Amino acid sequence: MLKVCKFGGTSMADARALKQVREIIESDKSRKYIVVSAPGKRFKDDIKITDMLYRCYDEVVKSGNCKKIFSVIRNRFNEIVKELGLDFDMNKILDETEEAICAEKSADFAASRGEYLSAVLMANYLGAEFVDAAEMIRFDSSGRLNNEYTDDKVKTRLDKVKYAVIPGFYGKDSHGKIKTFSRGGSDITGSIIARGVNADLYENWTDVSGFLICDPRIVPEAKVIEQLTYKELRELSYMGASVLHSEAIFPLVKSRIPINIKNTFRPADNGTMIVPSEQYNLKKESVITGIAGKKDFSVIFIEKSMMNSEVGFIRKVLSVMEHYGLSVEHVPSGIDTLSVVLSSEQLKNGILTDVVNEIRENVNPDYVHVIENVSLVATVGHGMARRLGTAAKIFNALSDEGINIKMIDQGSSELNIIIGVSNSDYEKCIHAIYNAFIND
Ligand code: ASP
Repeated sequence: MLKVCKFGGTSMADARALKQVREIIESDKSRKYIVVSAPGKRFKDDIKITDMLYRCYDEVVKSGNCKKIFSVIRNRFNEIVKELGLDFDMNKILDETEEAICAEKSADFAASRGEYLSAVLMANYLGAEFVDAAEMIRFDSSGRLNNEYTDDKVKTRLDKVKYAVIPGFYGKDSHGKIKTFSRGGSDITGSIIARGVNADLYENWTDVSGFLICDPRIVPEAKVIEQLTYKELRELSYMGASVLHSEAIFPLVKSRIPINIKNTFRPADNGTMIVPSEQYNLKKESVITGIAGKKDFSVIFIEKSMMNSEVGFIRKVLSVMEHYGLSVEHVPSGIDTLSVVLSSEQLKNGILTDVVNEIRENVNPDYVHVIENVSLVATVGHGMARRLGTAAKIFNALSDEGINIKMIDQGSSELNIIIGVSNSDYEKCIHAIYNAFIND
């Protein structure tokens, strides 16, 4: 058994958390490759090291140095080293890092140093080898992960090392400069390492006991999801469930390695298992797996008789979106109607009237109308396809609560039913669906 473990920002936040992390790692000899985030928040209004490093970069650009902010970072690392009683020269590494941030003048480089320092410290604390992600993870000239190169490097580099700590969040670009993933990207590093060493399990340690069925700020009693398939995870995280980076799944799809979301502060909890569909335990399946959603969408509703027989109709509508650089979330359609769903954020610059006018010119519709302040709520689960009446149950629950449904979109895999409701009904909608299925 071989496990790759990734520990997130809260698990690396202070000496107390690090002690807990070491206990977890040392309690299971198969935990061999450890990926770490930068120290995160210790309390609600605390500032993450990564955020401070971005500020260091801003300061360097403005004034040529970042002494003041870097001293806060320095103190945090030194405090951890002191409290853990470690005997190594952290200050020397911090001096070099500060100098390098000033010299490099790169936001990505500055931000990556949180993970770098965190991994150096952790490797020392565990007595494991530090292996830099920059040696293994490579992006291509268009900024995408170079999978082949990276896989090969991870394999050959870690083949020689039996116990290692690797910083998350970054690699090198095609010019050899440090480049980070998007925020929360250490999750992706964990997946890449798990694939490269062909791990049996990727444990992602965080500060919650797994994915919850829905947002606990809306349903405080929301239960933990025991198991999820890769596809369900993708749908839920795309719609806003944020325990794991939404791209963390891609490196694992081919190798079929499961992910276990675990809680560093409650290690005995099972957490959530994220598995490829063939490893899914049907006996434990529930009708719906999760509910996620996002607010603030705009729906452009287009009506035209006989649109179905007009060749190129949808293309012409979508070409308007392309012309304005708009990305489209959904395009539900009826016989004579088509809706284009977009995040309202993209329309903030006042282009909506132009977009609508161009649609009028391009396809000459009978009617165009824009609905704003729409929320999308996705009910996700493979179990829905195997049960009759799931959609009816959702719609009944909403009608019982007096919630008006503005739009419905069911993915062709029957994995997901997306409903558009008014922003003001968003929380009520999630509550109603949760109660209909979970408290039933
Ligand atoms: N430290 C980075 C962030 O705050 C990456 C990570 O934690 O995964 O986004």
